[in-house]
Amino acid sequence: MHGEREEEGRLIVGRDYSPPGGQPSRCEDEGIEKGTRAQSYCASACATLRPSVANFEKAPAEVQEILSKPIQQLGLKLEGSPLERFVHQLYKELDAKGLKRFRPKCYLTDEWGCPNMEPVIGIPFYLADPKLQRLESEMNDIEDARQIMMYMRHEAGHAFNYAYVLFKTEEWRKLFGPFRRPYRDSYKPVPFSRQFVRHMEGWYAQKHPDEDFAETFAVWMTPRSNWRKRYKGWGAMKKLVYMDRIGRKFGDVDPPVAHGDTDITVDEMDVTVGEFYQRALDEQLNPGELPLDADLLDIFNVSKHRRKGVRPAVDLLRENRKVLVDKVNYWTGVQRPLVKRLVESIEAKVSDLGLRADMKCEREHLTELTVYATALAMNYITRGKFISP
Ligand SMILES: [Zn+2]
Repeated sequence: MHGEREEEGRLIVGRDYSPPGGQPSRCEDEGIEKGTRAQSYCASACATLRPSVANFEKAPAEVQEILSKPIQQLGLKLEGSPLERFVHQLYKELDAKGLKRFRPKCYLTDEWGCPNMEPVIGIPFYLADPKLQRLESEMNDIEDARQIMMYMRHEAGHAFNYAYVLFKTEEWRKLFGPFRRPYRDSYKPVPFSRQFVRHMEGWYAQKHPDEDFAETFAVWMTPRSNWRKRYKGWGAMKKLVYMDRIGRKFGDVDPPVAHGDTDITVDEMDVTVGEFYQRALDEQLNPGELPLDADLLDIFNVSKHRRKGVRPAVDLLRENRKVLVDKVNYWTGVQRPLVKRLVESIEAKVSDLGLRADMKCEREHLTELTVYATALAMNYITRGKFISP
């Protein structure tokens, strides 16, 4: 997922630990000695981050070839691309909600987002081409069809707000807050707050009044979201009821702002594909060096002498990386790129240490590792660091 940030007035969607030794485990009788650290490992203290650029180099030859090409010369078009069906789906869903006159224009750009106060939807260019999709999945775990529609509905919410200039009304301001409130990437959400709907990951509606509206719109328009039942008794219900009323009110009304100016389009992007990804990598927050050794040795404490029924722990992690990153991001609110780099640094350390998973206990390994990553992420939320040495 992509956090939104404000950049020159534009919204881009884009953003003391005690080791668990000694606890009992169902794995004990399988030859895993929990809580007793294998002293022989005594590795250097910190997991060094493997920059994602390593994945870049591993990309297949046909993908390597496009890295040096300027994006504007790739001839990317939304029409006829794999994205077209999502735009049609969005329009179909808007129609099903009774919004007959609102059809926001979609265009290819660098990230998900609406230019500030312009009712147009920017879609990342890499979704318009199968080769670029492969590259993106190497770099960032590409959005699946379900996630693409979630973004589409969210961005349609911004576009609806701007098209009908709702944010200037007193009622909107009372329900969602001041539209001009500054954006902060490092907002402090109140987890599980019932004053806000939940749609995108990370308690995203709490980021800004405009995001709150976009998320409310997205929940309201999602087919089978069952929002009346799902949000019964929640503070967020009044926002949904408002949305429902406004949807009826403007269903047959032409938007006062029907057209918007696009931000940078794919035809104007003169950077190469390689430069685009390198720039994104350079902008990412880096969790720094993390002393994970002792904890990971506890989690994957398989006897060195075991020969059967074991496999490299890093394989288990890699197989489950996307869902782990997605869910830690969703439930903690730590930005996805940062969670991804945390999980990558765990993988790197597990690999450096040569840790192995007991194949009969993979569920236990994975559960503990998930709880571990979540605890680190929550530490980041409350203390600003994954680990405070
Ligand atoms: Zn947004």
